[in-house]
Amino acid sequence: MTTRVSPSPFPSVDRLARLASVQTLSDRHGRTAVVDTIRAVLDAHRKTLRESLAEHAAPDEDDIVAEVDARLQANSALSLRRMFNLSGTVLHTNLGRALLPEAAVEHACMAMRHPCNLEFDLDTGGRGERDTLVESLLTEFTGAEAATVVNNNAAAVLLVLAALAHERDVVVSRGELVEIGGAFRVPDVMRSANARLVEVGTTNRTHKADYRNAIGPQTAALMKVHASNYQITGFTASVSDADVADIAHAHELPFFTDLGAGSLIDLSKYGLPREPVVRDVVAAGGDVVTFSGDKLLGGPQAGLIVGKGELIAKIKRHPLKRALRVSKMTLAALEATLMLYRNPDALVASLPPLRLLTRSTDDIAALARRIEPLLADALGAAWRVSVAATSTQVGSGSLPVDLLPSVALAIEYIDAKSGTALRELAGRLRRLPVPVIGRVSDNRLLLDLRCLEDEGEFIAQLHALKRAV
Ligand SMILES: *Cc1c(COP(=O)(O)O)cnc(C)c1O
Repeated sequence: MTTRVSPSPFPSVDRLARLASVQTLSDRHGRTAVVDTIRAVLDAHRKTLRESLAEHAAPDEDDIVAEVDARLQANSALSLRRMFNLSGTVLHTNLGRALLPEAAVEHACMAMRHPCNLEFDLDTGGRGERDTLVESLLTEFTGAEAATVVNNNAAAVLLVLAALAHERDVVVSRGELVEIGGAFRVPDVMRSANARLVEVGTTNRTHKADYRNAIGPQTAALMKVHASNYQITGFTASVSDADVADIAHAHELPFFTDLGAGSLIDLSKYGLPREPVVRDVVAAGGDVVTFSGDKLLGGPQAGLIVGKGELIAKIKRHPLKRALRVSKMTLAALEATLMLYRNPDALVASLPPLRLLTRSTDDIAALARRIEPLLADALGAAWRVSVAATSTQVGSGSLPVDLLPSVALAIEYIDAKSGTALRELAGRLRRLPVPVIGRVSDNRLLLDLRCLEDEGEFIAQLHALKRAV
């Protein structure tokens, strides 16, 4: 007895898998993924066919293969993507902070491609220590005796407190109990490190006597935190680094400073607002200073700890150090970045954050005028595009109140209901092959061009935008 089965309108999975075009896909994505995707595509078509009342033509082989290809490609797209940061914040934490110098990129690639002396002493042939790769550069540029590196500055603060103040008191001014974006709060880090926070002074005023009076038998250190993302103005008083150091040293206590963005050079020499320089804090008596590798320094994400030899030795011996240590890629990128500081005259050209922060408004305005007509053309008649003065933030908590004059392309909706339209436009810019991130301000979408260097690739996005409109 035979059963009658109406012939399936679809080719079989086997038949499809044997096609030459599908073989190519298998080579690229693997046979399992290809077969699974063919099944999924066929299932989807069967379902449509079942559910559609109207005549529905079954897809031919080529259509199915094209669909399988598209699905596999979408599935293998990487999540971490290049973008255009036109947000008006140069060191944007959500967008990856500092762009690294070419020398750092190359050195990190070397470390990824080849075996390297990460923990190997080439002189003796014995075991080495990874920190020594950058320690001498860090001491050279900061005047400190010793240095070590961990995963980020939050980790640096945690490690210093855990190593130097376990179950003991750390004295901090109330005006410095800051929260940095991304849930870094000084009191919380203190608790996690098992150190006891002793707050002194008031939010706006702290005096020398406040520090002195707080010192007791349980005190482990005096600490200062660079209030990096806000400023207290008006009736204020704080104690200088040198004075806090004197008080600490008179009681044989270490003075620890968390500088946050801490710069290795005086930025005012480049016409930028001044940020605390690590060397100055060390010279003022800072025994331990921590700062970020990917803020003003312009290197990879890292937490740098510099200071007195015996304190750094104690910090390195703490078990948390092993848990917070950095990778060979980080060390390679950091070493190559630090090396650039040997030649401060070339730094503007070689260090991307400095290059972007010092870029002239004339240069940015000229770029804006070149791009304005192309953007207007891509957006069409519903939008008005103009060149507008704006201001850039340095970002990453550095120099919070100092804005740099910059130039933006300002996009306005011709119609009244601009809020929704602007949000939609921002979404369209995010969906471009290389997403473009601006900021909405005063019913305008601003594209601050200070950080736009790859003009050609940006123009390619405008072409894609025009096609999408
Ligand atoms: C940015 C910052 C931190 C955190 O540094 P990460 O490198 O982001 O971990 C800690 N303290 C201060 C004062 C900062 O500005």
